[in-house]
Amino acid sequence: MVKRVFSAMRPTGRLHLGHYFGALKNWIKLQDGYECYYMSADLHALTTDYSDTSEINKNTLDMVADWITVGIDPHRAVIFKQSKVSQHSELFLILSMLTPLKRLYRCPTYKEQLKEIKNKDLNNYGFLGYPVLMSADILLYKSDLVPVGEDQISHLEFTREIARRFNNFYGGVFIKPQEKLTKTAKFLGLDGRKMSKSYNNSILLCEDNDILKGKVKSMFTDPLKIKKNDIGHPDGCVVFSFIKVLNKEYKNREEKCKTGEIGCVSCKKQLTEMLSEFMRPLSEKRKDIIADKAYLENVIAVGCQKAIEVAQKTIEEIHKVLKF
Ligand code: SF4
Repeated sequence: MVKRVFSAMRPTGRLHLGHYFGALKNWIKLQDGYECYYMSADLHALTTDYSDTSEINKNTLDMVADWITVGIDPHRAVIFKQSKVSQHSELFLILSMLTPLKRLYRCPTYKEQLKEIKNKDLNNYGFLGYPVLMSADILLYKSDLVPVGEDQISHLEFTREIARRFNNFYGGVFIKPQEKLTKTAKFLGLDGRKMSKSYNNSILLCEDNDILKGKVKSMFTDPLKIKKNDIGHPDGCVVFSFIKVLNKEYKNREEKCKTGEIGCVSCKKQLTEMLSEFMRPLSEKRKDIIADKAYLENVIAVGCQKAIEVAQKTIEEIHKVLKF
């Protein structure tokens, strides 16, 4: 039987290079061997942006347009929107009854985001409980595999714990999803932190060329390499972290940085050229896709219908074991 893969992204609008190299490249490959469910997690978006929902729908269309642009194929993957599959909310409610509060306070991502995100009020129940909603998302489709990076393994562990707890209380409805670990390139943001829109340090997948130039210019490099001839340390350099992903010949540049044969201006020039080349065909393709709103809405509507069919079957099994 073909294994099922589930993955999701919050609709925060247009995607950045971190999304592509960290997740989407892998999503594209998975379409070849698995039954893939790719979800726009718009309910999750409420956990941090509940006071203003005016952009959520537009953000979903922007994100799905990016997915299709890079090669997610609506004929091979189920592309859908979380809020239109009400079974997610129902399972979230049921699982939240079984979730110990202490366990939620211990989640590493909860602690990390509270520390990092200062411009939003995160003191709400939904934010604390988002791992439960995430578990509901995964378990609802009886997903075999969830593509994650190493920093997200704790999410899967949490999901397995909740699944085990449910199965122990009521009977074995859920299978335990496994992580599909992929070694992805670590993509740093302009300032050297993880690339994220919340940190305002990202480069869009289809960035405007002038903006791209400005962003590459502003990237952090080795602070000890002031003049071209200074000995550099590429390991801590954001520009080099990109070059390493995009240029197979990166070792040569690495060596020359270390021996003071090249300067940061040359690296930034090369990086700008490589990124422009990478983005050009994508930008062309995206223009047509985003212009056809009816097409995008139809892709999502068809996906939602397929998702509802699977989700409803799981909910019926749950009702049975809960004796509702
Ligand atoms: Fe980074 Fe290149 Fe400057 Fe070295 S020369 S610090 S690799 S930008």
